[in-house]
Amino acid sequence: VLITQQSQDEMLKVFQNNKQLRECGKEKESKLIVVSISIQPVLSLAARYKLEPHDAFQRLSGYLKSIGADVVLDMTLSEDLSLLESETEFLERFRSKSGGSKTCLPMFTSSCPGWVCYAEKTHGSFILPYISSTKSPQQIQGTLVKQLIAKNRSYQAANVYHVTVEPCYDKKLEASRNDFYNEQEDSRDVDCVITSIELEQMLMSQNLSLSDIPPAEVDFPWLEGSSSTEPCSYKGTLVRHRGTGSGGYADHVMAVAAYELFGESSAQLNFKVLRNPDLREAILEKDGQVVLRFAVANGFRNIQNLMQKLKRGKCPYDFVEIMACPSGCLNGGAQVRPEEGVQQKELTTQLEKCYEELPIHTPKSNPLVQEIYANFLGGMGSDRISTSLHTAYHAVEKMNTALNIKW
Ligand code: SF4
Repeated sequence: VLITQQSQDEMLKVFQNNKQLRECGKEKESKLIVVSISIQPVLSLAARYKLEPHDAFQRLSGYLKSIGADVVLDMTLSEDLSLLESETEFLERFRSKSGGSKTCLPMFTSSCPGWVCYAEKTHGSFILPYISSTKSPQQIQGTLVKQLIAKNRSYQAANVYHVTVEPCYDKKLEASRNDFYNEQEDSRDVDCVITSIELEQMLMSQNLSLSDIPPAEVDFPWLEGSSSTEPCSYKGTLVRHRGTGSGGYADHVMAVAAYELFGESSAQLNFKVLRNPDLREAILEKDGQVVLRFAVANGFRNIQNLMQKLKRGKCPYDFVEIMACPSGCLNGGAQVRPEEGVQQKELTTQLEKCYEELPIHTPKSNPLVQEIYANFLGGMGSDRISTSLHTAYHAVEKMNTALNIKW
């Protein structure tokens, strides 16, 4: 049922209903409609319509506003918070393991719901302590929209309708988890997930090309209600994080860990391809010893090998960025298909090149991050950080699976 709710039809019904309420003067009964767009769909649609990425982003904003969105957002802030919380979580785990505690390493990233659902279903409670508790950017964005933006605009969370645009259908499953439903407010952090391919279908069904749509600014409501006047360098631009087009978790956490734990700069940290391009590794050596070993594993073949090694006690890593799709999120299962005569691999390489050409952004350079920790989250170390930026995972009994999905 939840998957049916997470469709473009459902989204368009809400948009239409909102429009009618406003036309009848019932503005107060209408919802605040917020759409958050991940970077991978922007690049996918930019390639599809042969647009420069930033131009495609603004035209997407224009399209979504023309059909009913009140606010259109990028997800840089949530990506920053997810990277920073992953960094803190890894440093804590590494230090407590070094201090002799039973903390689980390697730490596996959790931003890919394809991997997380597979782990919960296939490896049960054994795997759970290894998976990072940090929420994915989609779900952090959900918290910020339903709590911070709703409050600043004087809406109840349930009266904000939050849509995300993502590169895969698995993000719909993630948004539908009970962990992201606020019972008290009767509100889901992300009400609906639309994929790149669904946006292409919506445009096609209206005989529109993205290049025909007038551009509109992407909104930046994060400082509403704040006294901060700190300029935000990435405001209005499309930026990327260091590392892979799936978010760059391994690159970011490795660079911070090398410096914080061993006083080493990240200059010499390079991820090298191992047996196949979807399995890469970086190591840090000190005094002839390997002190940190990180990996990026994409695709189920590499994930299954990794799980076998873990079960045999032979997984050599401290941290692994795991993504279910080969080549990661830029090659997500619901990205726009290549045009006739173009191979999937060629299109993914094109998207990777576009991603690499975007300006690099670092989470610590974002003044909004400090603002969010200090004001919205109640300061470093507060309980609100764990409830707002972290989640839990659950072993799923194979015979008792609510959603009969084959991985
Ligand atoms: Fe979705 Fe694939 Fe990215 Fe996982 S790797 S979040 S399944 S696009």
